Formats: sequence, C-alpha cells, structure tokens
Amino acid sequence: MGLMSRTARTIFLGELVSGMALTLRYMFRPKVTINYPYEKGPLSPRFRGEHALRRYPNGEERCISCKLCEAICPAQAITIEGEPRTDGSRRTSRYDIDMTKCIYCGFCQEACPVDAIVEGPNFEYSTETREELLYDKQKLLANGERWETEIGERLAADAPYR
Ligand code: SF4
Ligand code: SF4
Repeated sequence: MGLMSRTARTIFLGELVSGMALTLRYMFRPKVTINYPYEKGPLSPRFRGEHALRRYPNGEERCISCKLCEAICPAQAITIEGEPRTDGSRRTSRYDIDMTKCIYCGFCQEACPVDAIVEGPNFEYSTETREELLYDKQKLLANGERWETEIGERLAADAPYR
C-alpha cells in the first residue's frame, strides 16, 4: 500500500469502518456460540465421560468380575474384588475407580466383554474435594441407572463401526 492510500485510510478511519462492517455482517449471521449451561453442543457417541456400571434390563449386574478392565487400565485406577455367589455366578464385592488417576483412555470399556463398565456422556461432575472423585461400586451403579438410556443409544449408534 502506498503512502497516499495509507494516509487516506488513516484520515478517513478506514480500519474502523472495515471493523464496524465486519461486526455488522456477523450480527445477522447464526450465532456460533452457545449459552452454556442452558444450551449444550452435540456429543459424539464415542465421547468418553464419567464412568458407569450397567445392569441388564432385569436388574442383574452385567459385571462378572473378570478383572480385564483392572488389568488393562494404564493408570491403575481400577480396584476390583470378586467373589462367587451361592448360585455359582461371580460378581464383584468391590469395584472402585480413582477418578483422579483416570486418563479417560477408554481401555476399560474396550476390554469389557459384557459392556458393563462404560464411559458415559456425562461431563458435568466436577467436585470440591478429591474424595468425591473416589468412586465405589454404588456410585458407579447409580451412574449406570441414571444414564442407561443415553448409554444404550450411544452404544447402538457406534455398533456398526465396531
Ligand atoms: S478410562 Fe483408561 S485410565 Fe480411566 S479407568 Fe478406564 S482404563 Fe483406566
Ligand atoms: S467391568 Fe467388565 S471387564 Fe471389568 S471386571 Fe466387570 S466384566 Fe470384567
């Protein structure tokens, strides 16, 4: 840009006018921001959020205490203890996840042969203390009950690609 045109642009407030024109143009376009937390953007079915332990529709726990998730967890965040029931089936007596260690890799979900442990769609679970992030079996099962509909839909949406 030559000296004359630069001077003219300065005198006639060219930068200001083009900036205002840009603002005006975007005022009438659809908004790209959302009013979180009242509005939320779409989530991928593969989004890895808060963990949950699922049950079968008849209420039976899915987890068979095979400990594959515990073995594969690279952060060693999962602690499981299991014991046989009187009917011969095997279930966990303890299932803890230290969410402060978890790196949300999704390996536990991938390793589970019965889709028991999953990473659900919930990402709003910030806490005020570390202790609240030490999840036990009751907490994980409660998460499963709370999010089962969404988790089922996500697994169904992702199933064709597995
Ligand atoms: S998501 Fe990864 S780090 Fe977290 S509990 Fe599962 S396997 Fe461990
Ligand atoms: S959650 Fe799945 S992988 Fe982990 S112990 Fe239970 S059945 Fe096995």
